[in-house]
Amino acid sequence: MIPESFTQLQRAYASGRTRSLAWRRAQLDALRRMIAEHCQDFITAEAADLGKPAAETVLMELNLIAAEARFVRNHLERWTRRHYQPMPWSLQPAQGWTIAEPKGVVLIIAPWNYPVLLALEPLADAIAAGNAVCVKPSELAPNTSKLLAELVPQYLDQEAVTVVEGGPRETGILLDSPFDHIFYTGGERVGKIVMTAAAKHLTPVTLELGGKSPCFVDDTVDLNVAARRIAWGKFSNAGQTCVAPDYVLATADVAEALARRIAVAVTEFYGEDPETSKDYGRIVNDRHFERLLNLLPVGTAPPQEPGSPLIKAASAVGAAAEMVGRRINAGLDALISRKTQQNSDTMDPAGRLVCGGVVNRETRYIAPTVLLGTQPDAPVMQEEIFGPILPILVVEDADAAIRFINSRPRPLAAYVFSNRRSVRLAFERRTSSGSLGYSLTLAQLLSSRLPFGGIGASGMGAYHGRAGFETFSHIKTVVAKPVWPDTLRLIYPPMNQLKSKL
Ligand code: NAD
Repeated sequence: MIPESFTQLQRAYASGRTRSLAWRRAQLDALRRMIAEHCQDFITAEAADLGKPAAETVLMELNLIAAEARFVRNHLERWTRRHYQPMPWSLQPAQGWTIAEPKGVVLIIAPWNYPVLLALEPLADAIAAGNAVCVKPSELAPNTSKLLAELVPQYLDQEAVTVVEGGPRETGILLDSPFDHIFYTGGERVGKIVMTAAAKHLTPVTLELGGKSPCFVDDTVDLNVAARRIAWGKFSNAGQTCVAPDYVLATADVAEALARRIAVAVTEFYGEDPETSKDYGRIVNDRHFERLLNLLPVGTAPPQEPGSPLIKAASAVGAAAEMVGRRINAGLDALISRKTQQNSDTMDPAGRLVCGGVVNRETRYIAPTVLLGTQPDAPVMQEEIFGPILPILVVEDADAAIRFINSRPRPLAAYVFSNRRSVRLAFERRTSSGSLGYSLTLAQLLSSRLPFGGIGASGMGAYHGRAGFETFSHIKTVVAKPVWPDTLRLIYPPMNQLKSKL
């Protein structure tokens, strides 16, 4: 079935129809119509797969796909034109230009965390570039995958755009086919599998990976705003966002206050008990839930200051032990007893719990959790967290933060909350990351005018808007020279006559 699907895509591409601008526009319009007409179905599917709040599905996925499809549609004419370039005197008279041609038949492999966005946004770019496309959604978001497999053939050209469902086995079979481009979003491990498979056919790849995205905060910013923006970026989609701030590097004078304000922001966003909030998601599966539990500190106790503005958050946290006892099943009890046996004076390398730490295995709920004073060697600092746990590490200054970041693999994003120009410039010039945000988190990926992609361990290549169009295009050079006068004869052999020719 899968190889047949590839052959069918090849036939559709060879027919030439995907190259026409009319076809591309019609497909992009149909994509937007599909989103608009099935908004509620997508919301329901994502709620079933990820417990994703409706507003998050609409704002962070459906709206972005519609905006991207509209943007690329509106720029098609300009991007597909010839772009003339001046020619060197040695080649005159001549004309030279570039033209974007489709790569051909392309494969898009999507992950589960934004299962519609990360399947359909690259699809919009691939269609804009005039390709035939195979989309492979993630098996870990099965309801969304099924919905995409049902809807896409109803709206788009069935022969030129297909959805193949499945997991590693099916993806492996797909990867055996000689696609003309592979666009993969997901983790580093599978990224290497994809790139290895692509090498067999010399297929170019775009890898949209993840990593530990740092967030630096110093004493020059409004901590309330910083806390809200960090809390939003970290706890949206229950922390399962590739560009979420993975950890915070805060200077000593602000670390404690920032941690407390993030806890306040969590209460503002999700109420006293985030488990009951309609705006807070769940962990995708048991494997990730267990993985995240192991990153939580052992023997924790939240700070409780009577009269502090955090009293509500603190009391929610204070109830944690009780709630844990009430909700958690036998497996988790073992973990809790390990925690309570721990000497409370011993600082866990994961840090001190400022808020959160409440979990419910049945619903795979993990409360928005903030840790203060995390050590670099803590387990939570050894891998991408990809969940609602925010460690705050104390650093001496911006220089120390930059050294820390540069000693680790290059992240997908870096965030800086500092109003010092010298600090901002230092991050811009001395650190390397897929993107860099000043006084914000996540929002850098909202513009179709800016490329989005990683570097090093966080990926290669980029998309969104023109970058996406070019990723799925081959930029072909064309040079035309009149046959008369034959100025090239100046450089024909034999070379010893060059002088006389000149
Ligand atoms: P994943 O690597 O487990 O899966 C992604 C895709 O790969 C799925 O479609 C899956 O079916 C397929 N796959 C899984 N195992 C495979 C195998 N052995 N062979 C072939 N294909 C296989 O990734 P994930 O857990 O779904 O996603 C989480 C990671 O993705 C995080 O690291 C996150 O940061 C990253 N991510 C990056 C971006 C980005 O835009 N850069 C966006 C979202 C997620």
